[in-house]
Order: sequence, then C-alpha cells, then structure tokens
Amino acid sequence: MKTFLYQTNEEITAVARLLQEGQVVAIPTETVYGLAANALDEQAVRKIFAAKNRPADNPLIVHIAKREELTSLVKEIPPMARALADAFWPGPLTMVLPRSAVVPDVVTAGGDTVAVRMPSHPVARAIIEACGLPLAAPSANRSGSPSPTTAAHVMADMEGIIPAVFDGGECQVGLESTVVSLVGDKPRLLRPGGITPEQLERVVGEMDIDPSITANVHLDKVSSPGMKYKHYAPKAQVTLLHGSCQSFVDFMNHHAEPDSVALCFDEEASLINKQVLRIGHEHDHDEIAHNLFALLREADKQNVTRIYAHCPSRQGVGLAVYNRLIRAAAFDERELEA
Ligand code: AMP
Ligand code: MG
Repeated sequence: MKTFLYQTNEEITAVARLLQEGQVVAIPTETVYGLAANALDEQAVRKIFAAKNRPADNPLIVHIAKREELTSLVKEIPPMARALADAFWPGPLTMVLPRSAVVPDVVTAGGDTVAVRMPSHPVARAIIEACGLPLAAPSANRSGSPSPTTAAHVMADMEGIIPAVFDGGECQVGLESTVVSLVGDKPRLLRPGGITPEQLERVVGEMDIDPSITANVHLDKVSSPGMKYKHYAPKAQVTLLHGSCQSFVDFMNHHAEPDSVALCFDEEASLINKQVLRIGHEHDHDEIAHNLFALLREADKQNVTRIYAHCPSRQGVGLAVYNRLIRAAAFDERELEA
C-alpha cells in the first residue's frame, strides 16, 4: 500500500487523481480514518463495500467540503439542517436527509435518504476540494473491528486490499461522527459521537433518541442500519462494568479472571494488580473517546483474551463511548455492587 505522508500539494493532487479514477483511498478525518471513493460512481463505491467486507444494507456517509455541494445531494434542505450546519459544520456531525436522484442506490443501501457530513480535517477537506467530488467514506477498518484512528491501524486492516493511505496523524475525536436524522417530524439522534445530544438540543430543541443507541436492537429495519451489528470489537472478549472506582478496583483485584486486562481510568491504574490499559482521566470524556479504539487495537496486538472495561458516565461524549463499548462487548454489561 502506498503511504502519503508529507501533506504536500503534490500528494493531495495524486490522491485526488486516484479518487477521480474510481479508486479507493484511506484518508484522515477528525473522527476516524475514512475509506473514501467517489460517491457518485457506483463501481467505485462497490469497492468500499468489498474492501471492508461491509454488509450491503449498511449505507455510507457522503463527505463534502462546501455547503453548496449539499444542494445537489438532497431533495430539500430544511431550516433545521441549515441551523445545524451553521452550528457544527465543518465538524463531526452527519445529517440524514431525503436524497436526490444523483446519489446511487449503493450509497444509501437502496433507501430514500442520504447521510452527509462536512469534515473539518484540513487533509480531508483539501482532498475533497482537489478532486471536486463528494466522497463516500465509512470507517477504514474491516467490518466489525475497531475503527482506525491512525494510518498504522488502516494498514493493519487494509494492506494488500486498497492502493493507498494518506497519513494525517492521529484522529482528534477518535470516534465516528454524530448522526442525526432530519427526515421525520422531530430530529432523531441515530448515533452519538463527538457532538453531544446537549449541544444538538441547544440548536434544534427536543430530539428523539433512537433506542438502538443504548440497547440491543436486532430488528430488520432499524433507522440507522449500522447499529444493528456487533461492532468495534477487538478479538478479546469484553465485559463492560458500571460502578465506582472503588468497586471496579475491588472487582479487578479479587474477582477478575487471572489473565484479564483492565481498561481503566488513569486514576485507578496504580491500584489494580492486573495488567491495565489506561483510557484517560475519569471525567475527561474527550480524552477517553480519543483513546478508546487505539486501546482496543493495542489489546489485540498483545493477544489479550479478556478485557474488563470500566464505563465512564454517559453524559456528553460519554454517551458515544458507552454506545461503542456496549457493541465491543456484544452487550455483556454488568452493574458492580457499591
Ligand atoms: P461508518 O461510516 O462506518 O461510520 O457508518 C456510517 C453510519 O451512518 C452507519 O451507522 C449507517 O447506518 C449510518 N447511515 C448512513 N447513511 C444513513 C442513512 N441514509 N440513514 C440512516 N443512517 C445512515
Ligand atoms: Mg464503521
């Protein structure tokens, strides 16, 4: 796989040319690395599904660099979409809107809506502008594994499968975008991410929260199909634990399986007598989000078989961390006794 590393205009142009030719390239964004292809080219988009081994009923997010580009992708732009774009674009917010005819079925999984985002990462923006195309770009991992937050993670999953990756360093947010649907009467949160429900509600008022965010919803027709799969999972078996630091430390020291590893807050690390992966300070949800996927991949590298993860509070970005962790744990979660 070719690696673009220097972020020069020549490299941006070279990647843009690959995309114009219908190739798939991994690019950095502020959320996670994306596996990008021309969203208007059905054959190119099919290569994304093949590279990821992604089920065809899981639609893709289309990435744009300028507000005008939204107009041709959707039937209409409701006032709430304008307000959200004013508040959060460019940034980690995806909006689901009624799609126009230019968007191929393969992008929307045959549905009549399209998900659109304007990333803030300078390299992502420069590439979209240089190729002059909207880019379909799901996370650049093999389907089911933790999303990549460095170019090395992309290489681990995609070596020999895609022609190139653009190395833009570590992704700042570290979790996928917040997805909000503006199709029904009321805005609906489909996936939590770096933009929190509280931030959204300040702009759109009260929102519906899709039940699949915090529960195991295995329906055929969930509103955000990506959420129905086991997801983000390392090879190790993960159990998610809720409770105080004291109860987590006690559990790890007295009840956890001998070779298990604690995915714990920095404050707990020195108190635990087993191997630890430090996820960040207990109340720093941005730091925890930034570290989560990299640590799940680190556990795989170390051939860890059992992880006990201490869940942060579900406030703010913590909701997005919880949403990823329960899927990484295949919904194995427990309350610790106080
Ligand atoms: P990924 O790009 O891998 O982070 O996943 C994209 C997420 O956006 C998945 O959860 C999809 O189900 C969701 N998504 C994409 N398009 C739509 C759409 N038209 N309606 C609802 N959810 C969507
Ligand atoms: Mg993904």
